[in-house]
Amino acid sequence: MKYVLVTGGVVSGLGKGVTASSVGVVLKACGLRVTSIKIDPYLNTDAGTMSPFEHGEVFVLDDGGEVDLDLGNYERFLDVRLTKNNNITTGKIYQSVLEKERKGDYLGKTVQVVPHITDAIKNWIESVAVIPVDGKEGPADVCVIELGGTVGDIESMPFIEALRQLSFSVGPDNFCLIHVSLIPVLGVVGEQKTKPTQHSVRELRALGLTPHLLACRSAQPLLENTKEKLSQFCHVPIGNILNIHDVPNIWHVPLLLRNQNAHHSILKQLNLLSIAAPPNLQAWTKRAETYDNLKNSVRIAMVGKYVGLADSYLSVVKALLHACIACSLKPSIDWIAASDLEDESAKLTPKDHAAAWETLRNAECVLVPGGFGDRGVGGMILAAKYARENNIPYLGICLGMQISVIEFARSVLGLKRANSNEFDSETPNPVVIFMPEGSRTHMGSTMRLGSRRTLFQTPDCVTSKLYRNAEYVDERHRHRYEVNPEAIGVLEEAGLKFVGKDETGKRMEILELPSHPFYVGVQFHPEFKSRPGRPSALFLGLILAATKQLEAYLNTHQNGCRSYYNLDASIPSSYICIVLHPSLFGYSNCQWKD
Ligand code: GLN
Repeated sequence: MKYVLVTGGVVSGLGKGVTASSVGVVLKACGLRVTSIKIDPYLNTDAGTMSPFEHGEVFVLDDGGEVDLDLGNYERFLDVRLTKNNNITTGKIYQSVLEKERKGDYLGKTVQVVPHITDAIKNWIESVAVIPVDGKEGPADVCVIELGGTVGDIESMPFIEALRQLSFSVGPDNFCLIHVSLIPVLGVVGEQKTKPTQHSVRELRALGLTPHLLACRSAQPLLENTKEKLSQFCHVPIGNILNIHDVPNIWHVPLLLRNQNAHHSILKQLNLLSIAAPPNLQAWTKRAETYDNLKNSVRIAMVGKYVGLADSYLSVVKALLHACIACSLKPSIDWIAASDLEDESAKLTPKDHAAAWETLRNAECVLVPGGFGDRGVGGMILAAKYARENNIPYLGICLGMQISVIEFARSVLGLKRANSNEFDSETPNPVVIFMPEGSRTHMGSTMRLGSRRTLFQTPDCVTSKLYRNAEYVDERHRHRYEVNPEAIGVLEEAGLKFVGKDETGKRMEILELPSHPFYVGVQFHPEFKSRPGRPSALFLGLILAATKQLEAYLNTHQNGCRSYYNLDASIPSSYICIVLHPSLFGYSNCQWKD
């Protein structure tokens, strides 16, 4: 196994994750198989209990792992399926060491950070690196390891020491260290400053690790003399000083690396030049350029709780982007804090209330993403009602699905106090209830998590058609509550159809309102499996419906048939690629009927 370690210096938030996944993309483009490990030096065992406000979205894996959002970047960039063990935290390492200590596995020895914690880290890395994640057999060629945090943090010290030992034991041919740093520009003179990078490289060297490459983040391209200075003071050959300056979209980053021959430097260090091919990044180039040149946009209202931080819904944003690109549209996401839509806000913050409603009314479609807790629920219900009554395309994800059930029960069935037990344990009409197998006392890893199967109940529904007539679909879940099976009869009689259920038939997975152009709620999170070039079927459906192309699309794609002509002559030509785009011709997560 060959390792590429990516560390960060100077400040956090440099885009280390994007850099590391882009390195993976370039190596993959050279014909190598790539896996990745993200190290998060925090004490939490996983990201499951962390607030999206503070930490951004919790990404969910097939195996139910609740992990750092960077793993989402890796899955999307490298098109792989990672496991929960690909995310290492201090908490996980200590837990495993302490479990062994309790079992007496250390045979009476004093258990210490060095060697026991560091050994556990090394063993973990070496055993996870060989797990295949790309659907092929046998281990990958290269494992990209991203060390979270900034070099010098107290928390990351045991990891740095373990990685130093690992680099020594695997040998120089099998280890390449890329240090990501910042080159700020100060003052009116606008000089590119190298000193912070010099300091962080010195820190790294003091800990026994020498970078082979530097990846320097900067606003503008690095000047030649800045590179020379960096090379001289940081002990890195000038050809190995990469510059990741600001680019219009992150899909340019692999191209930027390729243009600077990063692959050559890395492959040389890893002694892989003889087996690697020149990087083929055609699809990436096309995608990055398409994105830059998008002219028309579609207005999407995102009505949620954590709207202050875009990272809170990172995968939803990415999934919207993938779907929009497939339709040659730029996503224009209008964030609406759900609580601003509530009547209460009209009194307390009238301006915000008016602005929120104005934004909602201007939107071409509405998305209510997942969430926990009762804040903003009233506003989400109002948004779902508005979309339902005004025929505005609506996609409700997880909480968003539960919201549409509550809204329907209140408005259509007249059950004014209908609610989820999550928000009102005393409601006389619990249309959403706690799942019997859940735990009420423990928060971490106690939800219904990971990939589960949804069986379509009828081929005659929008979602089944969007999934290209699949009989079932495997998508990822993360929830504690579910639609009350006892409420299904009345809800269906009144027109809300549950067209996707789990294998027992008792758990509702997909709802639709057949009388509406596109009103879909899903208990799962389709955003986690959306990929650039392979958008999620449901996000695609939402965007098609928002631009009034859904019906034509479904007609041309019925029975799995694929037609490649313009849907509607009145649609601007920039929309046309929706039917031509190759990304629409395959979903890895569903089964074809024929
Ligand atoms: N809070 C809801 C539940 O636990 C929805 C969860 C979610 O949206 N991920 O079921």
